[in-house]
Amino acid sequence: MSKLVIASGNAGKLREIARILAPLGIEAVPQSQFNVPDCPEPYVTFVENCLAKARHASLHSGLPALADDSGICVEALGGAPGVQSARYAGEPKSDDRNNDKLIAALANETNRRAHYTCVMVYVRHPDDPEPVIAEGRWFGEIIDTPRGEGGFGYDPYFLVPEFGKTGAELDADTKNSISHRGKALRDLVDQLRQLNRIG
Ligand code: IMP
Repeated sequence: MSKLVIASGNAGKLREIARILAPLGIEAVPQSQFNVPDCPEPYVTFVENCLAKARHASLHSGLPALADDSGICVEALGGAPGVQSARYAGEPKSDDRNNDKLIAALANETNRRAHYTCVMVYVRHPDDPEPVIAEGRWFGEIIDTPRGEGGFGYDPYFLVPEFGKTGAELDADTKNSISHRGKALRDLVDQLRQLNRIG
């Protein structure tokens, strides 16, 4: 198995990424195994933050690195929380407080459309001049009452109309097959194959 360090400390994301990479013979190693310090994410776009995280993880681990930057973009809120999704309700990060803030912000709002966005960046080394970049989106709508125990983050409030279920009610394989992260990761893997960077 070839090793790839994953530039994330989010257990939910790590689980989803490892599940997709394992059948490809790629072992997804969390950056916590290398004591990678927190990476600043000062940028206003997913892609810039993601590139910064991938470089940072590769620098501190000495391995190729894969970073994920993702969030939920709500149409009626002009795309917020966006890159601020993890910290929407401030520090310390809390899914419960983020969800409460989102539902309050949408009180009396009839447009409930939202999508998750995920950007993935793969670098062979910190100075890789050709980072491989992929993007995926997952469309749904925000409901007021949480449903389901799976997933993480905003999933209990994210209704997927085609399934009549929230992200938290879908099983892991179904979520991976349609989610922003699943789409981005499959696109990334296709690009890596074309470039001969994985077998
Ligand atoms: P990041 O770690 O800066 O990329 O933050 C991503 C944040 O976006 C997470 O902490 C969640 O709040 C939210 N998010 C991203 N992907 C998902 C998902 O698949 N389900 C639920 N929330 C997600």
